[in-house]
Amino acid sequence: MRSLSVLILEDNAFQLMALHQMLNANQVFSVLTASSVEAAKESLANRGGVDIAICDLQMDGPDGLSLIRFLAASRQARAVIILSSNDRSVLDGAAHLAREQGLWVLGSLQKPASATALRELLESYQECVQCECEQVPATQVALRLSQEDVRPFAPGQGVGDTAPLDQWIAHFQPKVSLDGTLLGAEALVRWQHPRHGLLAPDSFIEAVEYAGFIEPLTWHMLELALQLSVRVQRERGKPLPVAVNIPPSMIEQEHFAAQVLALLARFGLPASVLTLEVVESPALQVSTVHLEGLLRLRMQGCHLSIDDFGTGASNIQRLLQLPFSELKIPAAFVRCMAADGRKSAVVAGALIMARKMNLNVVVEGVETDCDYRAVQALGRPTVQGHFIARPMAEADLLRWIKQRESVELRSTHALADR
Ligand code: C2E
Ligand code: CA
Repeated sequence: MRSLSVLILEDNAFQLMALHQMLNANQVFSVLTASSVEAAKESLANRGGVDIAICDLQMDGPDGLSLIRFLAASRQARAVIILSSNDRSVLDGAAHLAREQGLWVLGSLQKPASATALRELLESYQECVQCECEQVPATQVALRLSQEDVRPFAPGQGVGDTAPLDQWIAHFQPKVSLDGTLLGAEALVRWQHPRHGLLAPDSFIEAVEYAGFIEPLTWHMLELALQLSVRVQRERGKPLPVAVNIPPSMIEQEHFAAQVLALLARFGLPASVLTLEVVESPALQVSTVHLEGLLRLRMQGCHLSIDDFGTGASNIQRLLQLPFSELKIPAAFVRCMAADGRKSAVVAGALIMARKMNLNVVVEGVETDCDYRAVQALGRPTVQGHFIARPMAEADLLRWIKQRESVELRSTHALADR
């Protein structure tokens, strides 16, 4: 274990000594101790920041929450462990508050702290640092385009000789099973902007929605995804299952299902190659007519996926209303799951529910070996994330598939030769 530096804030002398000894027993010898928030701040000022701060919540005078606020502002601890004799809900609330302030919370310990629980938290810190999956704040979106920027996409407004739709390109991110078998790819839009270069959807999708052009974009993406599927069929004999993001407003349209089936027929593909990923929206109005359309899509074999499951206002209710066949667990619940028992509880709960409802589960945003192993320990969902592959242009994906196949083939031959 790399040698760690730890600050303990604890005003009970006996418990302070016990924690100190437990740290020493885990080969942690660089330990700052403080029996008040003032003393903790002074120690940090004199000796510099620490890897981990263990914060007791209840103190005479300023309490552990004020040290947490100080640490969030000063960045003098890389991670914190919350300590308290209060019940679980207080510990969880304090952990949530610390995370909201941008701190990496390793976990919480109920007093008296158990040596095993402390060792596990120290180990998870080491693991996460090694695989760099600690909770860093999300990167900022560099550019946000306005409605005016997307105006050239109004139907019928070509720019010069190039149809603007051509600037919307699809990148594809593979989805695999836990044993590595390729199960399909999600189409993710990019804008090849003439001035700004290649843009990710965060910089323009809202503007496209507000400007009312999300529909042509979605049909364009459906075409690009089905094109890829046909291309893979031509090269490898089997169409590649593809998933496309569908705004809820399109699900509300009466003829949506029939148009999707007509598009599949035009490409000569079975409906089972297509998954429609719908982000839950409280505003989604589904009447019996639309429900009938969605059911027809499902009856033909299309898959219907609830995207970003667990983040919408009412999506368990929506899960019961609509004929979903899949749910996607977003990256926010997966990142550094191994070090956060609450996240693994959410993911494990979603997996149990999905199994009982006969739903496929896709775990998104798996970035590191640490996340991957944590997912593996909970079940056998489909996995998508940078750990497998980043979204890539069609040609790169075709190369990626070919390379994987040749590696698989070589290992099969090696096994057969033994
Ligand atoms: P989403 O549908 O949840 O797509 C997953 C996002 O997570 C993608 O971001 C993907 O690049 C990113 N991602 C995948 N694996 C990882 C990982 O391991 N770590 C991290 N940090 N991120 C990962 P992207 O492509 O920027 O798309 C963002 C969102 O924009 C999508 O979220 C989706 O809601 C929307 N979007 C993308 N393409 C389309 C589209 O064609 N139509 C519509 N309506 N929305 C789209
Ligand atoms: Ca999606």
